[in-house]
Amino acid sequence: MQQPPDHGTQRFREQYRSEILPAGYSGWRHVALVAVVGPAVIAAALVLASRSWRPADAWVVPATLLIANLVEYLAHRGPMHHRVRWLTLLHLRHSSRHHRYFTAKAMTFESTRDFHAVLFPPVLLLFFGGIAALLGVLATLLLGTAGGALFFATSMGYYLLYEVLHFLYHVPPQWAVARLPGVRWLAQLHRLHHDPPHMLLCNFNLVFPLCDWVAGTLDSDQAPQRALQEKGASPK
Ligand SMILES: [Zn+2]
Ligand SMILES: [Zn+2]
Repeated sequence: MQQPPDHGTQRFREQYRSEILPAGYSGWRHVALVAVVGPAVIAAALVLASRSWRPADAWVVPATLLIANLVEYLAHRGPMHHRVRWLTLLHLRHSSRHHRYFTAKAMTFESTRDFHAVLFPPVLLLFFGGIAALLGVLATLLLGTAGGALFFATSMGYYLLYEVLHFLYHVPPQWAVARLPGVRWLAQLHRLHHDPPHMLLCNFNLVFPLCDWVAGTLDSDQAPQRALQEKGASPK
C-alpha cells in the first residue's frame, strides 16, 4: 500500500518542482519524444543490418545484452551512487535527486510532471546514442556492417527498455501495467533499492538482475539489512 510522502520527501518534491522543473515541462511530451526518437533510430539500424545480414551475426544480440547488463550494473553501482570526476551529473541526477524524490515509502508519481524526476533528459538519448554509435562503428570494423548495426540497435533497445521499465516501477499501483507479474517483481526489487539503508547495497540492475545475481547483490528480501545488523553496523 503506497503511503503519502513523508514531510522531508514532500518538501524536496516541492523544492524540485519550483527550482529544477522547467515551467513549460510536459511529462507526456517527454514520453512521446523518447518513444518516437528511440524506436526510429533502432529501426534505421535494423534496416541497415538487414542489407547484409547473415544468421551467423545473430550472436551479436545476446552478447550486446550481456554487455549492456554489465554496463548498467557498473554505472548504477559506481558513478550513479558515488561521485566520479567527469560523471558528477549522473550522481546529481540519480542519488541527489531521483532517490530523494522517490523513496521506498513514496515510489509513485503524483502527476505527469513528476516524469521529469524519472526519465533521463532527452539530451542523454543523444549522449548515449552517440556512444553506442561510436562503439557501433568499432564493431562494424570488427564484425562488418550487420554486426555493427545490430550492436547499435540492441544497445539502444536496452536503453529504451531501461527507460520503460524504470518508468513502470514508479507508476501508481492502480495502473494495470504495474500489476503485470514480471513488472511487479522487478518493481519490488527497485523499491528495496530506493530504501536508503539498501541503496548502496543491492538491486543495481533495473532491466534484469543478472549481474546483481552473479555479484551477490540481488536482494528481494531484507538480506543486506540483516548483514549490517550481524556486523553490528547501524544502517545509514
Ligand atoms: Zn527509481
Ligand atoms: Zn540507485
